[in-house]
Amino acid sequence: MAKIPSALVQPWPSAGSIGADRRGLLASGEGIYVTDGHGRKLIDGPAGMWCVNVGHRNAELAKVMQEQALELSYNSPWYTTSSPADALADVLADRAPGDLNHVFFTTGGSSAVETALRIMQFANNVRGRPEKKLMVSRQGGYHGSTYLSASLNGRPRDQDWMDSATHLVRKLSSPDPFRRPEGMSIEAFEDGLVAEFAALIEKERAERIGAFVAEPIQASGGVIVPPPGYLKRMRALCAENDILFIADEVVTAFGRLGSVFASRDVFGIEPDMITFAKGVTSGYFPLGGVMVSARLFEELRRSNHPDAMFAHGLTYSSHPVGCAVALKNLELLEGGILDHVNALSGHFQTSLKSLEDLALVGEVRGLGLMACIECVADRVSNNPLTLDLEVGKRIDAHCQDLGLLVRPLINMCVMSPPLTITIEQVDTMVDILRRGISRTMDDLV
Ligand code: PLP
Repeated sequence: MAKIPSALVQPWPSAGSIGADRRGLLASGEGIYVTDGHGRKLIDGPAGMWCVNVGHRNAELAKVMQEQALELSYNSPWYTTSSPADALADVLADRAPGDLNHVFFTTGGSSAVETALRIMQFANNVRGRPEKKLMVSRQGGYHGSTYLSASLNGRPRDQDWMDSATHLVRKLSSPDPFRRPEGMSIEAFEDGLVAEFAALIEKERAERIGAFVAEPIQASGGVIVPPPGYLKRMRALCAENDILFIADEVVTAFGRLGSVFASRDVFGIEPDMITFAKGVTSGYFPLGGVMVSARLFEELRRSNHPDAMFAHGLTYSSHPVGCAVALKNLELLEGGILDHVNALSGHFQTSLKSLEDLALVGEVRGLGLMACIECVADRVSNNPLTLDLEVGKRIDAHCQDLGLLVRPLINMCVMSPPLTITIEQVDTMVDILRRGISRTMDDLV
């Protein structure tokens, strides 16, 4: 892709390249395609960052955005509201599981997770148990780039050079079946993960643990689909110990798994809070939020401190343009795209799975329209590849030559295309991946 000469500091640079880091330019997009600075048309394999769910250049979303900006471009959420914010809150309360019928809008996923954590802290202060503040997350998880949300992160390299609130966070193992100990059944692996959480509760004491935060599928950790009973059992442990279960659905909500929220519809759980962002506007406007249970707010209303202020808010909370876009986006998703995802996801997963016959591929896994190709050094031991080989980047480079953008993650490639992708386009994508991985194998011999 063409290089951009600019003063732009892009996210996640390394120290030696800050300010000198030039990334590929994208000039335009349409449907599942983007066009780069050389006029090359590429399939947007990761849908931006798991977010362009209805596809690029959707005229209906663009129209709503313009109309709302001309009607009311901004209102202070501190002392006013807007019709789009009210309407979106009602629709989301209706679609969310259980009694999650309150929503606090934010500007994206990190601020949604940060808000959920601060609600937990505030609630425990108001309820007179200020020591109940520990947050439990998992290795392999990603929850954001603000201080508390980033403190939960557990992917390699997330914290090597960054400060975090380690005194507030405890981490459990990633529920990654592919990396379970050799010879162990999935059932035994699941039992071990649940036992690990139970032991942590025992050690730290339930009175000190405020929340367990989990992506139902660890997305940027490599599309880790947990063992079948894992989420229900972790949810039950939380309920037994009065620990809030916060489902981070920043990636899994709004269609990626074929439903508006995946917690109940796909995994059969009702969390205490759900964080969302990305697909809520298909990435057309920065918006996120937290669904919160009525029970929790009712407890706060009836507490001994009804005047305690939840001193937390964002200038762009409940932004009317973002909320208007989200309403139209939801209409598009529910008007056929969710059905399309449910009809297509079997083919999507099976065709990608066929890549497992390539010697470099250790496992292809996924659910709905999200998947990960994990490459290994050898398929007998499934040993990880050494980082210096940069296999993900090599596959991405070859695939770009062939017409596909891939999201490389060390030795993995993540696929999460716009949800409007057709069956023929899935086949083209898989064909390019096969050729891109084969070329990478040729490079490595
Ligand atoms: N949570 C999850 C599961 C994510 O994947 C991400 C971003 O990729 C975030 C939170 C942070 O969202 P944002 O980048 O919008 O702040």
